[in-house]
Amino acid sequence: MKVETKCLHSGYEPGNSEPRQLPVYQSTTWKYASSDAMGRLFDLEESGYFYTRLQNPTNDAVAAKIAALEGGVAGMLTSSGQAANFFALFNICETGSHIVASSAIYGGTYNLLGVTMKKMGIDVTFVDQDLPEDELAKYFKENTRAVFGETITNPTVSVLDIEKFARLAHSHGVPLVVDNTFATPVNCRPIEWGADIVTHSTTKYMDGHAVGVGGAIVDSGNFDWMAHAEKYPGLTTPDESYHGLVYAEKFGKLGYITKATSQLMRDLGSIQSPQNAFYLNNGLESLHVRMERHCKNALAVARFLKSSDKVAWIHYPDLEGDEYSELAQKYLPNGSCGVMAFAVRGGRAKAIEFMDSLRLATIATHVADARTCLLHPASHTHRQLSDEQLAEAGIAPDLIRLSVGIENVDDLLEDLKQALDKI
Ligand SMILES: *Cc1c(COP(=O)(O)O)cnc(C)c1O
Repeated sequence: MKVETKCLHSGYEPGNSEPRQLPVYQSTTWKYASSDAMGRLFDLEESGYFYTRLQNPTNDAVAAKIAALEGGVAGMLTSSGQAANFFALFNICETGSHIVASSAIYGGTYNLLGVTMKKMGIDVTFVDQDLPEDELAKYFKENTRAVFGETITNPTVSVLDIEKFARLAHSHGVPLVVDNTFATPVNCRPIEWGADIVTHSTTKYMDGHAVGVGGAIVDSGNFDWMAHAEKYPGLTTPDESYHGLVYAEKFGKLGYITKATSQLMRDLGSIQSPQNAFYLNNGLESLHVRMERHCKNALAVARFLKSSDKVAWIHYPDLEGDEYSELAQKYLPNGSCGVMAFAVRGGRAKAIEFMDSLRLATIATHVADARTCLLHPASHTHRQLSDEQLAEAGIAPDLIRLSVGIENVDDLLEDLKQALDKI
């Protein structure tokens, strides 16, 4: 199946006289005929359901759809994108580990790595993702366990050179983890370019309607944990909490997701609710149609903003002459996403005046939604960062993040024009 068809059909195949729509298994628990049958599940000797904190059939169907879309071997849903990135990294890192991450990543992930995981003894080096390969290689250490980046960064919309990052990661014997939230698998499948693990905030385009917060992790199954066994004891040495089984041995290519599910989800409990997974599935069914419209509208909006003398600068990778246009053409040939970053002339004060003058586009702590929305990171999402950290993350104080929706583009252009005319 092509990606468009997978959006509708992967993950759930009803049999004869079964419901056409994915059922919501709104149950915390499952019934078993014998205590032995249930015991085998707890020993991971058999797969099956027993408690929704670990697995639920609705969630599994949606995770399988996302895994199919990304071209991975297995997937799992999490309660949020934050949980997805934490689980994806914590599954292979522990106290004493080190991560190389792009400094341009989403503010929430920047904090997760730089503050919270640091407190757990996991060190991170934030790097300029545009540096040449030999420069980036200098940031790797003996205890480096993962490389992290975003296909399209939030909010600076820089495009990651995935092949470069994959080469760097693999030449140092570690996996590349890519957050593919903005591109979605409709526009880019990082695994095809060498990424080992893909994460998502499903809260964004995948849901698409601002209905449910959620996340997902997909494993390519390509990274050979046993070949780097000394680095990944969690996957390659016995787990005493499951009678000494070794995930990478017992489950092979499914070892990574099995560990994240049966160990991390068991202990940290960040499952997505089955009802939210159901909403997410409905969003996924139209993802391919929406992404096409998002990109089409965004390009028209970007061209309009670029032509306005009220606009100081604009970044949108699909725009002719954008600094990421070459990478976008390579990794995102059908369009990048609906998000762009720009600034109006006159700095912070004029930015606020402009935003307050909009009638259709709404100010919202949200992005990648069917409805056009925008925010000002320096005074909203990234307000906890110092000016220095803002600069390091490439976020100008006047940057406005505009997330173009799927409305009629003429209405959007008219709204932007009347607001620009006011400043
Ligand atoms: C929003 C976002 C996250 C965090 O996801 P939540 O669902 O809000 O927890 C992570 N990465 C990127 C790129 C995001 O845009």
